[in-house]
Amino acid sequence: MHIARSVKELQDTVQTLNANNNKIVGFIPTMGALHQGHINLVNEALKRCDVVVCSIFVNPTQFNDLRDFEKYPRNNAADIEALSSISDVVVYFPQLVELYPENKQRLIDYNDKLLFNAFEGEFRPGHFLGVVTVVLRLFEHVLPNMAFFGLKDYQQFLVIKRAASNYFPNTSIIGLPTVRNTNGLALSSRNQRLSEQQLVQAEVISQVLGIIAKNGRKKNIDTITQEGLATLADAGLRAEYLAICNAKNLQKIHHWHEANDYVAVCAAFVGEVRLIDNILF
Ligand code: AMP
Repeated sequence: MHIARSVKELQDTVQTLNANNNKIVGFIPTMGALHQGHINLVNEALKRCDVVVCSIFVNPTQFNDLRDFEKYPRNNAADIEALSSISDVVVYFPQLVELYPENKQRLIDYNDKLLFNAFEGEFRPGHFLGVVTVVLRLFEHVLPNMAFFGLKDYQQFLVIKRAASNYFPNTSIIGLPTVRNTNGLALSSRNQRLSEQQLVQAEVISQVLGIIAKNGRKKNIDTITQEGLATLADAGLRAEYLAICNAKNLQKIHHWHEANDYVAVCAAFVGEVRLIDNILF
C-alpha cells in the first residue's frame, strides 16, 4: 500500500507504479470509514486493474445537511490499516484546496434533469452537483482507465455514468453489487451511528425491498408500495421514499412489462440516521 496526500504525491506514486505507461489504473472514490463493501470494490478493481487508487475524502459539497456532514464517521487510521496489506493500492487523501481551488462547484451539463432531480436529488438538494463535482475533480487527479462504484448508491451510479460519458468518455464506469450483513442490511459507513437495536430495526429496509423483488410483478404497483411503506412505518422507520422504477433511467413505473429490468429504491430514517438501499430485479 502507498499513501498520497497531494496531487503531486499521487501522480508521482502512480507514475512510479506505471513507469512504462502500459498499466490499467483503477479508481474507487470513497468517504472513508471503510467497511467490507468498500474493500470488495478494491478487491474487484484489483482483478481488472494493475494499480488501484482509493480516495478517502468526506466531501462537504454533497451534504445538504451540515449536521450530517459533521457527524459523518471519520477514521483515517483504521482505513489505512484496512488497506495496509494490499499491494498495488494507493490510498489518496486529497486536500480540500486542491479539489476546490477556486472554492467553486463545477457547472455540470445536466443532460438528464429527471435523473438528477428525483429521489436523492429531491430530498438532498444539491447533493448530485456536489457528488459529480468531486468525482470529476478526482478523475482529473487520478486519470483512471476504470472507476468502480457500488450499486448500493444506484442513482449515484447512473448519474456518474452519465456525467463521465460527457467529460471522461474513455473511463469505464463499473457498478458492483451491494455487500450486506448476514441479515441483509446493506453495509454503510452510517451504520456505525446506529445502536444495536437500531441495526436490527434497519433490517426491515432490505426485507421490504426483497418482498417487492420477489412478489412485485404479481401485484399492483401502488398496492405493494403502500404495503412496503406501512411495514417501514410499523418498524419505526420514517421513509422518505419507496418506489419501483425502470432500472435504466430511474423513472417510476405504473405498469409491469415482462422484459424490463426494475429497481426498487428506498430512503428511510432510523432515528436520526438516514439510510438508502435498493434492489434490482
Ligand atoms: P461512500 O464511502 O459511502 O461514499 O461509498 C464509496 C463507494 O462505496 C460508493 O461507490 C458506494 O456505492 C460504495 N459502497 C458503499 N457501501 C457499499 C456496499 N454495502 N456495497 C457495495 N458498495 C458500497
